[in-house]
Amino acid sequence: MSAFVTLATGQRMPMVGLGTWKSAPGQVQVKQAVLAALDCGYTHIDCAAAYGNEQEVGEALALRVGPGKALRRDQVFLTSKLWNTKHDPSDVEEACKTTLDHLGVSYLDLYLMHWPMAFQPGKELMPRREDGSVCYSNTHYKDTWAAMEELVDQGLVKAIGLSNFNARQTDNIISTARHKPVVNQVECHPYLSQVDLLAHCRSVAVCLTAYSPLGSGDRPWASADEPCLLQDHRLGEISKRCHKTPAQIILRWHIQRGVVCIPKSVTPSRIQQNLQVFDFTLSEQDMKLIDSFSCSKRFIVPTVERDGKRVWRDAAHPHFPFHDLY
Ligand code: NAP
Repeated sequence: MSAFVTLATGQRMPMVGLGTWKSAPGQVQVKQAVLAALDCGYTHIDCAAAYGNEQEVGEALALRVGPGKALRRDQVFLTSKLWNTKHDPSDVEEACKTTLDHLGVSYLDLYLMHWPMAFQPGKELMPRREDGSVCYSNTHYKDTWAAMEELVDQGLVKAIGLSNFNARQTDNIISTARHKPVVNQVECHPYLSQVDLLAHCRSVAVCLTAYSPLGSGDRPWASADEPCLLQDHRLGEISKRCHKTPAQIILRWHIQRGVVCIPKSVTPSRIQQNLQVFDFTLSEQDMKLIDSFSCSKRFIVPTVERDGKRVWRDAAHPHFPFHDLY
């Protein structure tokens, strides 16, 4: 089993990377996490402008990557993402250059459009009206894509890709792209196994990366009545039988499906544990058992309360991706 996938560009992308969403910038959490990851063998870090911590990720990279350091720049696969308020084609280059500046590197290996939905341009991450609703913009993701293609032409990024795109939107981009998307990064874990989207992406040479691969137990809106993937008793049984932790079982399931995963942790022992998933194999029976957990449970859709009910916040956006089945 390879520890890498080869993208349509020929780039080798490590199958396990470190996620950095929610890894606090102020408490040097994210810096320590990235250092711990690089020191124990990770060569893939998943970042985003919207996580508000790219400068601290950059501080860690500066200590370990570059001339005279432990790793050469070309040995580390760095991903970042263009945020929704930067979709206007005239904003794309500056947004990318800000990320490069914060990370302290001259190029990214992969730059993703974080969501197909554009928000009103400006400095606010989440531009809102007085009533709390988010201000959208009409910019079409195909126009944003054309501006991202220029980043490849300029050598600022090696490849570009998508995140949170459904199959129809992915095809829509591919239909006119000069530089095809190499990755679609979407929520994927045993409760949302993305069988159809995975098959579709594969058929168009787009690699699927699983975000929230462990079920994002620390998502800010988690509520006590939602299932907790890592505590699923069926997983616990496989874990006992295989002498691996529940997290390792899930990550191994992703890898055996050929899906890249980017578990987030700020705990050094877990960071290390999450990379130790290449020395065992799940049986076909256990793979099928974990496949059977799927219940279309999305943990990562921003919701708001309306008339006493929790509803999808951006469902009215013309490019909201989750109305389609996949
Ligand atoms: P996740 O990786 O599924 O889960 C993170 C949680 O699991 C944290 O509470 C972490 O705790 C815990 N954890 C990690 N390893 C563990 C282990 N071995 N044993 C027990 N608990 C463990 O959640 P996520 O952060 O939502 O997703 C991962 C990454 O995907 C993000 O960080 C981000 O880079 C990316 N992402 C992208 C998008 C997008 O829209 N493109 C959306 C969501 C996430 P500690 O940190 O306390 O150790």
